[in-house]
Amino acid sequence: EGAIRFENVRFGYDPQREILKGVSFEVPPGKSVAIVGPSGAGKSTISRLLFRFYDVSAGRILIDGQDIASVRQDSVRAAIGIVPQDTVLFNDTIAYNVRYGRVDATEEDVERAAELAQIASFIRELPGGFGAMVGERGLKLSGGEKQRVAIARTILKAPPILVLDEATSALDTHTEQDIQTALDLVSKERTTLTIAHRLSTIINADEIIVLKAGQIVERGSHRSLLAAG
Ligand code: ADP
Ligand code: ADP
Repeated sequence: EGAIRFENVRFGYDPQREILKGVSFEVPPGKSVAIVGPSGAGKSTISRLLFRFYDVSAGRILIDGQDIASVRQDSVRAAIGIVPQDTVLFNDTIAYNVRYGRVDATEEDVERAAELAQIASFIRELPGGFGAMVGERGLKLSGGEKQRVAIARTILKAPPILVLDEATSALDTHTEQDIQTALDLVSKERTTLTIAHRLSTIINADEIIVLKAGQIVERGSHRSLLAAG
C-alpha cells in the first residue's frame, strides 16, 4: 500500500542556503507519520520534494523502493494524493471538480465521495469566484468547504500514498473537526505523511518527527515524545 523513504536528503532552493540538512525517515506501508516543527523548518519543502517539484541535491527519496529521481514526474504524482491547504477549483460544477483525476468514476462513486466529505448538498453548483458572470450565480465557498471538495477528490482517487499539508491551516474549530473526520476516513490504512498543524493529526500518527532548521531533532510515538517532555 505504498511506502515513503527519505535517505539523507539534502536540499536548498538556492545553493548558498541549505534548507534540508540530511533528512532520513520512513513511512512504512499503511502507516501514518506526522512532521511537526516551527515555521520555516522545511516541512513543506519535504512534501514539495516528494512531488518532484524540485530534485534533491544529495540523498535519495524512494517510493515503494524506487528512487523517484528515475521515475517520470507524472507517475510519481499519480501515486500520491494530496489534500492541499489551498485548493484551486475549476470553473465547473463541484461534481466535476470532485471527479477530476478519476474521469472513469461512476456517478455513484462521486456521490459517495461527496457524502463522506460532507459536500453532497452542493455538488451540482458552481464554485463561483471566476469573474462576475459566473461568480454571481456560483457559490462562495469557504476555505473549509473548498478543502472538503479536495478531500472528496482524494477519496475518489484513492491513491496508495496520501500527503496532507496542513501547514498554514486557519480553519475554525468546528470546520476543523468535520475535516478531521473526513481526513481520518481517507487516511485509514493508507500510507500517510502529514505536515502537521492540528493536534488531532499528531495524536493519530504512528510516528511523529520533529524538524528544526532542516534537521530531525526528535522522533517517536506521541506518548514517548510527551514522556520526554
Ligand atoms: P515550513 O513548512 O516548515 O514552514 P518551508 O519548507 O515552507 O518551511 O520553508 C523552509 C525554508 O525554505 C524557509 O526559510 C523558506 O523561507 C524557504 N523557502 C520556501 N520556499 C522557498 C522558495 N520557493 N524559494 C526560496 N526559499 C524558499
Ligand atoms: P491528479 O492530476 O494526479 O489527479 P491533481 O490534478 O489534484 O491530481 O493535481 C495534480 C498533481 O499536482 C497532484 O497529483 C499533486 O502531485 C500535485 N499538486 C497539486 N496541488 C498541489 C499542492 N498544493 N502541493 C503540492 N502538490 C500539488
